[in-house]
Amino acid sequence: MRVPLVAGNWKLHKTVAESRQLVEEMLPGLEAVPSVENLVCPPFMALPAVAEILKATKVAVGGQNVFWEDKGAYTGEVSPVMLAEFCTHVIIGHSERRAYFGETDQTVNRRVQAALAHKLIPVVCVGETLEENEAGNTNQVVARQMRDGLSNLQISDASQLVVAYEPVWAIGTGKAAYPDDASRVIGKVIRPALAELFGDQISQGVRVLYGGSVKPANAADFFNEEQVDGALVGGASLKAADFIGITEAAA
Ligand code: PEP
Repeated sequence: MRVPLVAGNWKLHKTVAESRQLVEEMLPGLEAVPSVENLVCPPFMALPAVAEILKATKVAVGGQNVFWEDKGAYTGEVSPVMLAEFCTHVIIGHSERRAYFGETDQTVNRRVQAALAHKLIPVVCVGETLEENEAGNTNQVVARQMRDGLSNLQISDASQLVVAYEPVWAIGTGKAAYPDDASRVIGKVIRPALAELFGDQISQGVRVLYGGSVKPANAADFFNEEQVDGALVGGASLKAADFIGITEAAA
């Protein structure tokens, strides 16, 4: 049984004070749904404050990115050692990192390895662009992102992974994928890629989330799909009532 996970990616939103307010507002509603795990990923600046509020709750805290070196002359970066002081998880390879910050499958792989070495659970994002989708290349692109992004990992670490299937054209557009299409990509591409890399048992145990315009109104349609183990939520994770509603739909 894979325990559902509903994760929020706050992106470049919320100051420290606003972050405190948002988690305090959402916490009671999330705690009322013990069968679903939650994760919130605020901006780096807010991690200590949010982690303090969420310690000893069911809501985990994650970063939105991580560098692969522990320390050194890397201006502007945040290391896995630093992140592990406040976080249990970290999002890696989000499509916005790939599109705007030069992230590649190879840099994703370095980050995933570094995160795992510091006992951070990577939430690895994969997904095709609109162009790739329209050209009929979804399966090929996602298979490559999985294979190259997750190469050279210890099988014992791989069971920790979380994968998020996020079609790029569905992110922040209000145009979610069809749930059965998302389920097909997970079942026919993502789990077979996990099986090839790490074996069947891990492939069946790893949680695979769907992300892209998930809202309270459409969340249950995704969670009813057997292959979908939860959601990575952007816009709707910034409103307590919406994030709670999505979590309730996953229960
Ligand atoms: C995301 O950024 O990972 C995301 C899924 O965003 P949204 O829910 O706003 O589409």
